[in-house]
Amino acid sequence: MKRIFGNAVILAGDELEPTHGYLVVEDGVIVEVGEGSPGRRSYIDLKRGIICPSFTNAHTHVGDACGRDAGAYKSISERVGKGGVKFELLRDEGKVKRGMASALEEMLTSGTLAFADFREGGARGVELLKSVAGASPVDATVLGRPDGDDPAEVLEQCHGFGISSVADYAEKELLELRRLARRRGKLFAVHCAEVNDDTAEVLKLEPDFVVHLTNAGDAGIEEVFHRKIPAVLCPRANGSFAVGLPRIKEILEGTLVALGTDNSMANSLNMLREMEFVFKLARGMSRDYELDAREILKAATLNGRKLLKLESNAIEDGNLASFIIFRNNNYIYDPVLGIVHRFEISDIKGIVKGDTLLGGNGIV
Ligand SMILES: [Zn+2]
Repeated sequence: MKRIFGNAVILAGDELEPTHGYLVVEDGVIVEVGEGSPGRRSYIDLKRGIICPSFTNAHTHVGDACGRDAGAYKSISERVGKGGVKFELLRDEGKVKRGMASALEEMLTSGTLAFADFREGGARGVELLKSVAGASPVDATVLGRPDGDDPAEVLEQCHGFGISSVADYAEKELLELRRLARRRGKLFAVHCAEVNDDTAEVLKLEPDFVVHLTNAGDAGIEEVFHRKIPAVLCPRANGSFAVGLPRIKEILEGTLVALGTDNSMANSLNMLREMEFVFKLARGMSRDYELDAREILKAATLNGRKLLKLESNAIEDGNLASFIIFRNNNYIYDPVLGIVHRFEISDIKGIVKGDTLLGGNGIV
């Protein structure tokens, strides 16, 4: 199976460099990125549409999507802490599964083809998400937790551990989970400084990446940079939960950053909205008008896959075809900025994953 997409603006390579040209996909893999016209070969005319790597949502809790905005005016601990609002909702397994399916649909519609989920409920919790994700083109990285089950058995079924809070476990237990994940070559990630600054305790576990850093102090942030630990930032969810905001510009400059939409109770899964919020907040707070939208787009597309140790979807020869095609007909001077802070879901004309053309608004 071979497809040629021509007359396109391609955000190519690791730097998302705009290139006017064409793209050839064969058997699900990018085999040619060229400038200008594809010559005499027949092609799909994108009418200067923009080809951008698909989004990776690097932090979700799709299990909570059945309770969107439930308990919205309560504190974060009253909503998602032990015995919080969510636990009442999660009793109905059928509802949880339907919520997950709608979350995956929401991701697909908005151009996300991979996500990483912190999944609770031990082995059964992992199984639930895998059964839903297995029917979707959106690839799930499932980070489970023991929740009373044998940790080794849970780990066997998923991609690693996602630890809700170091305060939920004894240090010895955490170190054992860490060792187990390392021995099996799986991921180990931890919520870090979402509400209180627990960065020092989290870093003792040498996580593969941390999530949030919302309330991390100077010493903690410096240590994250020093140890080159990647971070997933979820500023819209932090805002929604009213727990503060991370120092976005500083963290972007100090380590590898990916974006996540966090808990579906408190936030939508739309990465277009996440990027706009992050971009303007970072510029507004720092007063740095040179802060480059490209860094935000990388955080929403390429960086999540790096941090999750997934194959790259940068638009270059030999890489997996996993990209979005945006329309480009409204005097867009800068395609990166167009995507980061202007485009809506309705601007998505098509989504390509391997040999499959998905969704969008009917180009292709
Ligand atoms: Zn989270």
